[in-house]
Amino acid sequence: MVETQLRARLITHAGVLDAMGRVPRHRFVPGSLQALAYDDTPLPIGDGQTISQPYIVAYMTQAIEPSRSDRVLEIGTGSGYQAAVLAELVKEVYTIEIVPTLARRAATVLRDLGYRNVHTREGDGYAGWPDAAPFDKIVVTAAPDEIPRALVDQLAVGGVMVAPVGRDLQVMTILHKARDGVVKRETIPVRFVPMIKKGK
Ligand code: SAH
Repeated sequence: MVETQLRARLITHAGVLDAMGRVPRHRFVPGSLQALAYDDTPLPIGDGQTISQPYIVAYMTQAIEPSRSDRVLEIGTGSGYQAAVLAELVKEVYTIEIVPTLARRAATVLRDLGYRNVHTREGDGYAGWPDAAPFDKIVVTAAPDEIPRALVDQLAVGGVMVAPVGRDLQVMTILHKARDGVVKRETIPVRFVPMIKKGK
């Protein structure tokens, strides 16, 4: 997986490649799909949701330029896999999931694997995690129509956010926050599940 899917596609960050090699992806997919866990594809995880393709997880992790001292917010815990990859590279990971069954299952897997620096919460990612803000980095793994204001507010100055933005087909957007404003860069086309709005 690391050689053919990641290194061959310009994932060059040594820490990201190491982390992707270490995290047991099969533990984050349903039992019936374990044989496919390291394939070059997203997989269903129940409740109509998916675990992202390995390349996309690596791409987003590399995009935030992870550093050992970072506190990172993830929106859309899903299986917990992206949170585990982040946990290998940064100080603390805060991850929010709106579907209660997924939130509980991911919390259990992450705990069983010993990831003590991952904090899980069931809730609405549009609100972020104000009591743990500001975050050095934010990784959004469900697609909003536009980057939620609350998340920009909870990003530290000097921080980086990565998010798939748009309907149906999205564009991966990398946002840098400076003292005098934000700079957004649009990169690759991607397809994520939509970020659910509560009450809709
Ligand atoms: N990062 C995940 C994959 C995410 S799939 C992994 O590594 O497996 C997107 C997830 O975002 C789904 O689990 C979905 O339920 C969740 N989600 C959708 N809308 C959300 C919202 N408003 N707040 C929090 N989570 C949300």
